[in-house]
Amino acid sequence: MTVLQARDPRTGALDYQFEATSRDDIERTSNRLRAGGQDWQALGMHGRMAKLGEFSDALGQHHAAIADRLSVDTGRRAIAAREVDGVIGAIFGWLAQAPNLLPEGWTDGRNNPAIRHAPQFVPYSLVGVISPWNFPLTLSMIDTIPALLAGCTVIIKPSEVTPRFVEPVMAAIKDAGLQDVLTFVQGDGATGGALIDHVDAVCFTGSVATGRKVAAAAAGNMIPAFLELGGKDPLIILESADLEKATDAALRGSILSTGQACQSIERIYVARSIHDAFLTRLTEKAKSVELNWPDIGRGHLGPIIFDKQADTLQAHIDDAVTKGARVMSGGTVENHGGGKWLLPTILADVTHEMDVMRDETFGPVLPVMAFDSVEDAIALANDTEFGLSAAVFAGTLEEAETVGRQIEAGGVSLNDAALTALFHEAEKHSFKLSGIGGSRMGPAGFQRFLRRKALIANTGAPAPIGAFAEDAN
Ligand code: NAD
Repeated sequence: MTVLQARDPRTGALDYQFEATSRDDIERTSNRLRAGGQDWQALGMHGRMAKLGEFSDALGQHHAAIADRLSVDTGRRAIAAREVDGVIGAIFGWLAQAPNLLPEGWTDGRNNPAIRHAPQFVPYSLVGVISPWNFPLTLSMIDTIPALLAGCTVIIKPSEVTPRFVEPVMAAIKDAGLQDVLTFVQGDGATGGALIDHVDAVCFTGSVATGRKVAAAAAGNMIPAFLELGGKDPLIILESADLEKATDAALRGSILSTGQACQSIERIYVARSIHDAFLTRLTEKAKSVELNWPDIGRGHLGPIIFDKQADTLQAHIDDAVTKGARVMSGGTVENHGGGKWLLPTILADVTHEMDVMRDETFGPVLPVMAFDSVEDAIALANDTEFGLSAAVFAGTLEEAETVGRQIEAGGVSLNDAALTALFHEAEKHSFKLSGIGGSRMGPAGFQRFLRRKALIANTGAPAPIGAFAEDAN
């Protein structure tokens, strides 16, 4: 039996113990869910929609307990409550569109109308969802809801860094009577690895390093892997941009959730003519941001959830300063009450020789660099191994769109930043190292859980072998 401990990010105390699910238990659980999956599929889309409606009601009833546990896991209160609201909202969103997501009926063949075809959609029996610590509930449910709707059963392996929220969510799952089609297993990478050996498809959200291991394991088992990985999102501010709006978007897009979001702005490129004014205004706004310490009910920034991440943040800042960057605000990881915190850290005079412009930082760090031409800005934005998302700010939407179309990333916010956190309706792929697999957003986010079967019917006479004789004309 492996017992793991979780740290409270506000106090640093290792005050929560939990047992990692054993390999045998994972096997037993996956057998149980596969069996439960037959009834789940037999319910049909409308039956499953009704059950997911009950699940959203149950989440509503357990809202306070889930939000409370999440806020201990993550050290923030308002975002914890919003995570629960967001999952309930996502269920409603999927239920509203579900009946129209799949084509039906027979289609005549183009070359031979006597041969007709119809699709059948067959769900993967069992999907594994492996999630990270930055939005523990959201990223456990974002793939789970459409997978369940499609007729799959799901086992979720959340991050070992944030395990507390699982218990009240399991209570909601049981209240909705979904325990035979949806459950959690707990543990670290070993548990995640074991899960991949028992599922028919895996949805993974996490780092590129782990994503490579998940992809290799999935390839070994010949199952699809949907990988949503890290980012190094650029924001380009063109000369025509409104400075008030651009600084609002840049700051919120970079520091929301203490920058612990895959779609956080991690690099800011500003037209040289407005660079100094932008930097001054951004710094003024950044200095008004407060930690939610000591009172979790006040301020804007929670603690750094994963303590090792604090080392990465400080290392990126120190590397930049050593190579000539100027710290305009923040700059030092602070220790309060046993937790680790960082105020918005604006770095000026940065270059692409610095780690902070190349590697994922995953914190409230805003490196700002001037550019001389739009072509240079686009080249700098694309000078990265990542391609998750990006943003462009300009005086007009047309100007922003022209630049946005040239950025190598899956989601580009125009005249705002990090919109993919708020808007999930548009399909998008991850480019470069930021991931592979179908879009998790939009209708494709549901369709990817269904294998397509083709039923091909001949309404005429089958061709005899003579039609294929060597001397047939
Ligand atoms: P991580 O890769 O360390 O861990 C993610 C999950 O994988 C955890 O549950 C972990 O236990 C599990 N895991 C570890 N080793 C494993 C293995 N060998 N096999 C199977 N599972 C394994 O990531 P993290 O530090 O928890 O999360 C932060 C990262 O997640 C950042 O890089 C961030 O950009 C990324 N992220 C991406 C998105 C997105 O949608 N693209 C969203 C949020 C976070």
